[in-house]
Amino acid sequence: MKRSSRYIPYGRQWIDQKDISSAISVLKSDFITQGPKVKEFEDKIADYCGAKYAVAVSSGTAALHIACLAAGIKKGDEVITTPISFVASANCILHCSGEPIFADVQEDTININPTEVEKKITKRTAAIIPVDFAGHPCDLREIQKIAKRHNLMVIEDACHALGAKYRGTRIGSCDFSDMAVFSFHPVKHITTGEGGMVLTNRKDLYKELITLRNHGIVRSRTDLLNKNEGSWYYEMQDLGFNYRITDFQCALGISQLEKLERFIKRRRQIAGKYHKELSKISGLILPVEKDYAKSSWHIYVITVNRKREKIYNELSKKGISVNVHYRPIYLHPFYKRLGYKEGLCPKAERYYKEAITIPLYPAMHEDEINYIVTNLKKIVNNLKRLQ
Ligand SMILES: *Cc1c(COP(=O)(O)O)cnc(C)c1O
Repeated sequence: MKRSSRYIPYGRQWIDQKDISSAISVLKSDFITQGPKVKEFEDKIADYCGAKYAVAVSSGTAALHIACLAAGIKKGDEVITTPISFVASANCILHCSGEPIFADVQEDTININPTEVEKKITKRTAAIIPVDFAGHPCDLREIQKIAKRHNLMVIEDACHALGAKYRGTRIGSCDFSDMAVFSFHPVKHITTGEGGMVLTNRKDLYKELITLRNHGIVRSRTDLLNKNEGSWYYEMQDLGFNYRITDFQCALGISQLEKLERFIKRRRQIAGKYHKELSKISGLILPVEKDYAKSSWHIYVITVNRKREKIYNELSKKGISVNVHYRPIYLHPFYKRLGYKEGLCPKAERYYKEAITIPLYPAMHEDEINYIVTNLKKIVNNLKRLQ
C-alpha cells in the first residue's frame, strides 16, 4: 500500500523566534556555559514547582543518576521501580550498582501500584522510583506512606509530568518525595535540546547534587576540608561527573518555561478532544485521569484488546507516527541477561501487548487531530467488519 504524503510525528518541540533570540543572546555573551542563566533557569523551575532547590544538568538521565547517588544508592541496595517506563528509570539504579526491583502497574493509570511496591520491600530496599507515566501523577501520598513506614527514599521520575498536579500540588514540589527529576528532551513539555533537572527541598541533597554535577569538586570555603590554602584552591571530595548544562540551553529553557502553561492547556485540550471522539469507538480503551490528578498529558496511549499490530501498521501507513510506550524494561535483552524473566509483572506485560501511543503535542493543528480520529475510526471499524 502507498504511504500517505502526510506525516504527523508523535511528539514535537515548539520553538519560536523568542526562544531562538534568547539562546543567541547568550551565545554572543561572555559565558556560554555555567553563566547566570543556569541559576536563573533553576530558580524559575523551582519556583514554578514550589520546591526549594533545583540543579540543572545535561539530561534527564544524568539527573536520575546523580539523584540516585545523592540518595546513597550503592551495591547491595534494592530500588523499586515500574517496568513501564523509559529504560533510564531503572538504568540509574544499575549505574549506582544497585538492583532494580520491578513492581507491577495499576491497570487504569499504568502507574506503579503502591500495593505491589509494598509487597516487594525487603531488608535491602533503599528507595522507590515512581514514574508519573504519560504525565499522570502516581498516587504519591500512598507511596510516601510506604516509604515512611520502611524508611526509604523516594525519587520521582517526573520526566513526563512537568506541569501536572497531584492533589492540588505541583509535580516537582517534592511534597511527597525526596527528589523529583525532569527531562528537557524535545518530546517533553519544554526543551533545552538535551537537559534535565533535579528538584528537592533538602539542603543536604542539594549540596551533594551540585557537587556531583561537577566532578565532585567543592569550592565554597565553608565546605572545604582543608581551609589553609589560597583562593585558587578547590577540593575533589567525591567521584562526580561533567553533567553540566550550558548557559544558552538554559536561556532557551527559561524562554520555553514562559510558554509552559499554554503548552499544558493545549495538551489538555487535545486530550479532551481525543477523549470525546474516541470514546465513540468500541474496542478502544482510553487513558484515565483520577480525581487526585491533573495530568500534563505527555503522551496519549490508547489500548486495543486485539489486533494491536494491525492498527499500528495501518496508522503508520497513513503517515501517523504511532509508538509503543513502553516494552517492560526487564524484557530488554540486557535485563534478561541479568536474569529478569517474563511473567514478572503480568499487568505490565499485558498492557505492552495492547498499547498504542497516538500523536500529541501543542503545535498540532485541528485538522491533524481530525485526521487521526477519522483514520482511527475507519481502521477499527474495518477490522470489525472483517472479523
Ligand atoms: C525522557 C525520560 C528520561 C530521560 O531523559 P533524557 O533527558 O532523555 O535523558 C527518563 N525517564 C523518563 C520517564 C523519560 O521519559
